[in-house]
Amino acid sequence: MSRNEHIYLDWNATAPMRAEAVDAMRDAAVNWANPSSVHAPGRGARGALETAREEIAAGLGALPDQLIFTSGGTEAASLAMQGVAADRRFVSEIEHSAVLAAAPDAARVPVNANGTVDLRALEALLDGRPALVGVMHANNETGAIQPIAQIYELVNATGGKLFVDAVQTAGKMPLPPADFLAVSAHKLGGPPGTGALIARCATGLSALQKGGGQERGQRGGTENLPGIAGFAAAVSACRRGWLNDAAARRDRLETRLRAAGAHVFAADAERLPTTSMIRMPGAQAAMQLIHFDMAGIAVSSGAACSSGKVAASHVLRAMGIAEAEAAEAIRVSTGWSTTDAHVDAFCDIWERLAARRKAA
Ligand code: PLP
Repeated sequence: MSRNEHIYLDWNATAPMRAEAVDAMRDAAVNWANPSSVHAPGRGARGALETAREEIAAGLGALPDQLIFTSGGTEAASLAMQGVAADRRFVSEIEHSAVLAAAPDAARVPVNANGTVDLRALEALLDGRPALVGVMHANNETGAIQPIAQIYELVNATGGKLFVDAVQTAGKMPLPPADFLAVSAHKLGGPPGTGALIARCATGLSALQKGGGQERGQRGGTENLPGIAGFAAAVSACRRGWLNDAAARRDRLETRLRAAGAHVFAADAERLPTTSMIRMPGAQAAMQLIHFDMAGIAVSSGAACSSGKVAASHVLRAMGIAEAEAAEAIRVSTGWSTTDAHVDAFCDIWERLAARRKAA
């Protein structure tokens, strides 16, 4: 029985673990051994690790030896942004903090008002010379899908390398063209604390975490076999059929809330069908979150809360949204077990709260 009794509309933060992943983790824990040990149990663990690697690679559309297992998306982003040799680094303004913090000196590529990377600005920044460029596949706050194919063309034409943070899209959409991609198990039904860097380009990557030579010397440390087994089972359990229902549900939700006064961010962009960033005029996001939480609904805001102060989302600010408006935005994100009834319950409460704010 889960302790989580809320209606869960915060899937971009983390997804529930698939039953298949829980079973695979239990099996790997029972059949424990160090995959680097030469004895029979160790060889068994090595076999399980390589089977999981093949399963994940096949499910995501990569080659097994392109996978470097990490502790998640954050470490994969660090490995790419810090481990790939480059004279110049660029990242988009709307990257997750995992990427921004991994490349603090990188020049920032601006985005358009709809939350997608400004291709002309990127081209001007590149100025015909190579660079390591980091751009996410879909934004975790607005769901805006980035023009990765065009970005890859631009970066490739200048002899540079492209890193794509595909944490929000892996298992939902085919991976885009890129030299390096970050994926994370806990966003697609696997356990937290497991992920991978997919290195399509083998050259020029140096390990940040050295040690025992695991992962072909690119990431030292005993592999998290239970986590990786859960990751593999979750990837194999991924189906994309539910995303059509998610798109219809998202459209219904947004139509309903717009009629009640909502503004939907990045509405003009192609978006993940599971993500809506919505502003309720006159209502601080923190207040909305508490209200929804008390009503038994888990959502989140784009705002980062630190030391009691709520800072407006850097993603919305990069899109040119005024700070006061950005501070009124919350994010609804759905997943494979979200139902119409969940979304309706959210809309009912949103409408009632908005009506109260208007009347106040
Ligand atoms: N990148 C994006 C776009 C994310 O949404 C997240 C998680 O919130 C991460 C990276 C970090 O992944 P992990 O939690 O596996 O470190």
